[in-house]
Amino acid sequence: MTAIHLKGLTKKFGETTAVNGIDLNIEAGDLFFLLGPSGCGKTTLLRMLAGFIEPTAGCVYFGEKEVTHTPPNKRNTGMVFQSYALWPHMSVVENVAYGLKIRKIAPDERLKQALHALEVVQMRHLANRKPNELSGGQQQRVALARAIVVEPDVLLLDEPLSNLDAKLRLEMRCEIRRICTTLGITTVYVTHDQKEALSIADKMAILKDGQVHQVGTPSEIYRRPNSTFVAEFIGETNFVPASVVQGGLETPLGILACSATIEASTSTCSLRPEALTVHDSPVTTNGFSGTCVETIYLGEVAQHQVKMTEDLILRVTEVNPSHQGKLGDTMHLSIDPRDVVPLTK
Ligand code: ATP
Repeated sequence: MTAIHLKGLTKKFGETTAVNGIDLNIEAGDLFFLLGPSGCGKTTLLRMLAGFIEPTAGCVYFGEKEVTHTPPNKRNTGMVFQSYALWPHMSVVENVAYGLKIRKIAPDERLKQALHALEVVQMRHLANRKPNELSGGQQQRVALARAIVVEPDVLLLDEPLSNLDAKLRLEMRCEIRRICTTLGITTVYVTHDQKEALSIADKMAILKDGQVHQVGTPSEIYRRPNSTFVAEFIGETNFVPASVVQGGLETPLGILACSATIEASTSTCSLRPEALTVHDSPVTTNGFSGTCVETIYLGEVAQHQVKMTEDLILRVTEVNPSHQGKLGDTMHLSIDPRDVVPLTK
């Protein structure tokens, strides 16, 4: 298994700095996600890992070996892109075996290895079909088999599920998790789909303007965002102005106790809608009350908008809802101190 280390990695396209001095360590065998708004540099970073884009500055290491200027075919990476581009005139097994042919593996051996890769992605039974006889999800699996058959040190996935419908995406993301775990390949995965990342990532990096803003496990990123940008980018949240006082944070909701370490420069806190609990009567600890201004009932959850002050409306997600809030009703809320996230920027 191969760790990946990036040092000061930078790519400029003329006036545009697509990737701006990124330092990043990806542990061997991790399934690592790159997430961020459109244009933040995810694809450029992935292509520098593949060797398709030459960095303007900085270094890429695969394990101890520097590969910054190593051509793509000498890096031992496998790639799956959005368009999986299987060769239409070749059968499934020929598509998968092609990379082995390029590497001059003998025909018997490459057939054996290609069939094994197809077994891993559960496609061996369709080995003799042509790509146009496969569903989108099946083609995606073949593309994955083609990438893993060469036993890459590093697997690079760029929106690999973007052409699939919602159900297949769900199935395939579990497949990818299973394959990466089984084969122990260090995998870097670019997606716009936060659920995809939260559900299967070992770790993720949140990028903005070519820089990494936070690296962590899915729950660290979701539960302990380090900035308003990350808190807002991953999931939904409420921002409430806050300043540090004895016993917690002074906010328009009152003084809130908070389990996290509070820095003196804290100016805001993040309260996730699902972390707010609805009660029948006022709560004394970390409790506050407001007026219901909107309720959307969705069966398993209800989404309430609760006006707390002239300037502050909280979004509240009630799970298994029993409070059919009527407009104008008083709603009593509370939040666990562990769910109050202080932010300095
Ligand atoms: P998306 O999520 O929309 O795919 P991204 O995060 O992958 O975006 P990149 O494609 O890496 O972003 O682009 C980062 C920045 O670099 C953007 O501002 C983009 O316009 C610019 N850029 C990318 N490739 C080139 C290029 N070949 N020439 C000039 N500018 C480029």
